[in-house]
Amino acid sequence: MGHSAIRRLEDLGMGGWANSMTELPNWRLALETLARRFPRPSTPRDDPLAFAYRYDDPQDRTVVAYLASFLAFGHVRAIYRAVESLLDRLGSRPSRALIEASPADLRRWVHGWRYRFIPAEALYGLLAWIRDRVERWGSLEAYFRAQVERSASLRDLAEAHGQAGRRFFRCHVPDVPPVKARFLFPVPPQSACKRLALFIRWVTRRAPPDLGLWDFWPRPWVFVPIDTHLAFLSRLWGWTDRRATDWVFMEQVASILTALCPEDPLRYDYAITHLGISRLCHRRPELRQCGVCPMRNVCPYPTRSG
Ligand code: SF4
Repeated sequence: MGHSAIRRLEDLGMGGWANSMTELPNWRLALETLARRFPRPSTPRDDPLAFAYRYDDPQDRTVVAYLASFLAFGHVRAIYRAVESLLDRLGSRPSRALIEASPADLRRWVHGWRYRFIPAEALYGLLAWIRDRVERWGSLEAYFRAQVERSASLRDLAEAHGQAGRRFFRCHVPDVPPVKARFLFPVPPQSACKRLALFIRWVTRRAPPDLGLWDFWPRPWVFVPIDTHLAFLSRLWGWTDRRATDWVFMEQVASILTALCPEDPLRYDYAITHLGISRLCHRRPELRQCGVCPMRNVCPYPTRSG
């Protein structure tokens, strides 16, 4: 364990963790067992990333992954229906279709579409936003590469991305209520920017099922998609002292995951999430199966509960 990781935990107010670095091997051991119990599939299942796998071209994969990440909220089946009906309209080469589309084409594609509180007009704005990035930078990859180069930190990048999206919506789709534009383009420090983190994981992480399309992402910029299960277990395990699932929460969890596995900080997030999804660790303490849980030797909960 490097001193820089320890210092980072101390900077984040995680002194307890920094002082118990001797515990790290035990946590690693437990998480490796958990990862064997809930192995990450090599091709995505029940995951919006599956849509990107339908295309061979990296630009199509990137555009589809980016679009799907914006809609990655709510029930997985509902997300599937929403993205599916959109992709049907974009055809077999969504990246090219977007570049060549006129505003009338975009209007036609979004006509009659709605996903929960995201109306067709907001989807029109999203498609126009992506087309604008591709037109001005040549590709989404080139756009993000430029953002990385001009940002001093991951937080700066996430904030610039969110603010630019909100500005774009104000100028080009003013009929979309600001609250919906803010939902689509959250910013730190209030938000952990989960959906942007998902997209970045898909396109930067090299291990399957992630696509590993980009090689320019700075290694220290660990961007963890914090879902409800990871948030719950991070609090239960004392990985964070935050009540709000905000940007600092994301940074604290990212620091611990980096300390646990510096070469692949997102190695364990799938297994942790599935510990919650499977209800092996239930929100109701009396329903938790601590006796057969791979985390029982490190989790502070069984000790606290006697
Ligand atoms: S040991 Fe019990 S409380 Fe801790 S993670 Fe496992 S099931 Fe949850």
